[in-house]
Amino acid sequence: MCGIVGYIGHREAYPIILKGLKRLEYRGYDSAGIALYDGTDIKLSKTKGKVEDLEDKIKKEITTDGTLGIGHTRWATHGVPNDVNSHPHYSNSGNLVIIHNGIIENYEPLKQELESRGYIFHSDTDTEVLVNLIEDIKKNDDIKLGKAVQIALNQVIGAYAIAVFDKSKPNEIVVARLGSPLAIGIGDDEFFIASDASPFIEYTKNAIYLEDEEMAVVRRHRGVSIRKIHDDSLVNPYIQELQLHLEQIEKGGYDHFMLKEIYEQAHAISDTFRGRLLTDKAIIKMGGVEDNMKKFLNADRILIVACGTSWHAGLVAEYIFEDLARIPVEVEYASEFRYRNPVITENDLVIAISQSGETADTLAAIKLAKSRGAFVFGVCNVVGSSIARETHAGAYTHAGPEIGVASTKAFTTQITILTLIALRLARAKGTISSSDYRHHLFELEMIPEKVNQALESDYMVKQIAEVYKNAKNFLYLGRGYNFPVALEGALKLKEISYIHAEGYPAAEMKHGPIALIDEDMPTVVIAPRKGHYDKIVSNIQEIKSRKGVIIGIVTKGDVTVRELADHVIEIPETLDCLSPLLTTIPLQLLSYHIAVMLGKNVDQPRNLAKSVTVE
Ligand code: GLU
Repeated sequence: MCGIVGYIGHREAYPIILKGLKRLEYRGYDSAGIALYDGTDIKLSKTKGKVEDLEDKIKKEITTDGTLGIGHTRWATHGVPNDVNSHPHYSNSGNLVIIHNGIIENYEPLKQELESRGYIFHSDTDTEVLVNLIEDIKKNDDIKLGKAVQIALNQVIGAYAIAVFDKSKPNEIVVARLGSPLAIGIGDDEFFIASDASPFIEYTKNAIYLEDEEMAVVRRHRGVSIRKIHDDSLVNPYIQELQLHLEQIEKGGYDHFMLKEIYEQAHAISDTFRGRLLTDKAIIKMGGVEDNMKKFLNADRILIVACGTSWHAGLVAEYIFEDLARIPVEVEYASEFRYRNPVITENDLVIAISQSGETADTLAAIKLAKSRGAFVFGVCNVVGSSIARETHAGAYTHAGPEIGVASTKAFTTQITILTLIALRLARAKGTISSSDYRHHLFELEMIPEKVNQALESDYMVKQIAEVYKNAKNFLYLGRGYNFPVALEGALKLKEISYIHAEGYPAAEMKHGPIALIDEDMPTVVIAPRKGHYDKIVSNIQEIKSRKGVIIGIVTKGDVTVRELADHVIEIPETLDCLSPLLTTIPLQLLSYHIAVMLGKNVDQPRNLAKSVTVE
């Protein structure tokens, strides 16, 4: 997991690469490095830390001229984050320079083999093994860089997106991908290489997304030639027109991407609806579902596979699919599913959820399900991502780029898509009456407006954050549709403020966590009026009897919880099944404000990365 950037053309490469790395920092940020080539000397600088640390170091260390360059922002898998393990890596001769996103699983035997032939390794990375393997092949067979890369990659097991150049070839960069994304921007006599299109969006709208097992030689003035890594066949480049706009990847006046993305949710949900939710005609129109309606309706069960926040969206979907469409659902962590020999049949329908569409475990779970004959439907945000391509059909959330590492609008738009699917299936199966169906569509359409109303509680959430920011532990409780929201609220707090938090189904509290309750541990209770209100009020009483502190998320106008709780945050009234789209909002804000008050790096929390493209 990391971000890679490259440039070859007529401009100075350094500013393009530096800015590109800043945009890709969400993908990894424990170290960064850049190598520039002016046709005579390679200038390389790298450091543990953020891209801004690299910028400072470069000012002191190297000149920055050169119209060819590559850069990397790392999320370490092999070797601790330090200067030496940072990318780019030189080969032993100093002639080849590489950046790599992914893991070379068989690096150990390859390393031993190369060591026995006199190669010396300076870092602990798998990447340095790859660059020396390429060098060894190139030297022994006296072949061009592209061919040597191809032969080397055929010996490698693992996942990669790489960019490598050779000192003796100042006019080309060789790139390849398997399992990690790689885009090539095609400008006017210039080429850009990046993990996603954001580093080059202001220079060109034309891009080629390499497919798995493809490599390309990018040549100055000459263009891009693409081949299959394994069988050497030539591939016709497919140039896509990018829909991304620069303002979508900038902060737009907000202090952090996370806050911007929290505030974008009304808009993002509307974008998810667009062309799909036709309330006046009482229609839900989703191509991927309509085209495969029989698969959905004949499925014995729906299996949802996902990781992290997407897994929480999957749990919400379990409740709504079973409740409305009466289809049995199981929700699995993709990482467990892929390794536990699950029973999957052709009668299963698998829904895979991933914001980035690159989550390695989810991708592997999809491949497993497909190999056993299941039909796989993807729910992703990133258009053209690996999961979007690997699945039989799917639906994009259209939330726009999510850059803050802690997921916010991706979660609510995933729930929105899954709700649309559940309602469509319920209608097709006749498990919902026509009037109920219309009522649901109407309420769903109102959600963006209500999300904005929920955001009005921001100032109050901030006051509550001030009171509890130093708490060591938090408990989050919810029932029914809001149990997954409790999990998600706890996850958000952990991720960005590093405060320990647990999410629990409220009734489970008495089977263990109740022992933790005292006046020092705030409990966030999600208690909207619809749902199991009376039950959750009893749970609140149980906490109060043990001197617990309650922060209640309640429906506007609530009286009962207000009397019991220490604080309440109101959300607008909606249907029980739609309430997660609103109850989530104050929990996102709470974690955001606490993290800011504690001085944490909200957009780039320690140890995390946006899309987890490694196992
Ligand atoms: N495996 C490589 C390393 O640990 C690359 C990790 C990444 O994708 O950032 O350096």
